Amino acid sequence: MKRELTCIVCPIGCTLSVDIVDGNVESVSGNACPRGKKYAETECISPVRVLTTTVRSAEGVLVSVRTDKAIPKEKLFEAMKIINNARPHLPIRIGDVIIEDVFGARAVATKNVEISE
Ligand code: SF4
Repeated sequence: MKRELTCIVCPIGCTLSVDIVDGNVESVSGNACPRGKKYAETECISPVRVLTTTVRSAEGVLVSVRTDKAIPKEKLFEAMKIINNARPHLPIRIGDVIIEDVFGARAVATKNVEISE
């Protein structure tokens, strides 16, 4: 089976052509650097994504969060539900851990949110 992908590792966006045999990546072409080959292998065998979402604080304010590393793509919806159920208290600082373990990643705040007067 042949599969075409656009590498999303850097803004160049190389078009990758991947040969898959028996569920294994046999060859990758079109990549301008080794990171493209690694991306194609991961994307075809076990795709992962960094999750960016929001959580509502206990005070009712929306706080943007993201996972600190990529998690399995098939777990994104479940991870979003877990994160959305958290109710962290303000104030929140960039980098504060909202949830310690979401499918192997930490969910961290991506902006400062103060307690409003
Ligand atoms: S293959 Fe390399 S150069 Fe091409 S988009 Fe991916 S990371 Fe960038």
